[in-house]
Amino acid sequence: MLCEIFRSIQGEVQGLGRQALFIRTAGCNLAKNCPVDCDTRYSWEENKKLPFFERSIDALSKEIDAASVDVVVITGGEPLLQQAEIARLIAGQEAKKDANMDWYIETNGTITPISQLINDARIYFNVSPKLASFTYTGFPLSRTIFKHVITPAEFTAWENKMSQLPIEIHRKIYFMPMSRNREQYLQSAPAVANWCNDHGFNFGAREHLVLWDGKRGF
Ligand code: SF4
Repeated sequence: MLCEIFRSIQGEVQGLGRQALFIRTAGCNLAKNCPVDCDTRYSWEENKKLPFFERSIDALSKEIDAASVDVVVITGGEPLLQQAEIARLIAGQEAKKDANMDWYIETNGTITPISQLINDARIYFNVSPKLASFTYTGFPLSRTIFKHVITPAEFTAWENKMSQLPIEIHRKIYFMPMSRNREQYLQSAPAVANWCNDHGFNFGAREHLVLWDGKRGF
């Protein structure tokens, strides 16, 4: 079950700036129990004007071919709820002649990927953990980054947490300013970027907010 498909520029961290086809799956296992204010609520709470829809793997594969991109971003909701279908889609695309596609899977980190996804060198994971119990395990570290959306009120707690994490995890974490639109982003980003600089942390840009002001479909 899908929520939307659109072509745009990858606006965050891994793959930043690359032309991509975005496939947003419908449904999230956290949904109303998610501890953060969801900015893609429409991915799990169906909008009657833009209802969820089904696509066969074959039809989706043709849509990817027609988009003529070499990056597909699979996002949600929580796409790993449909990971068996995702694995079949990717395997089918990779079996094609001249297959040369990078796949980015955006996930909340609550579902461990199946081995077909973990073992495929063309699949990258952008993990945005929402639960405090997240342990940074279960994902291939060389192809994974972890995005934490934060506010200045959380700086001290994160300094303490980062000091306890091993360096190989530390280097994979990006801090993104909490923001839903361009104005909020431009207001909050300098404080987060300066804090990252002061502590040697990675900053996670959210270019899609600057470019498209948080509009759906970009
Ligand atoms: S995990 Fe992501 S998509 Fe799901 S409710 Fe939370 S913020 Fe929204």
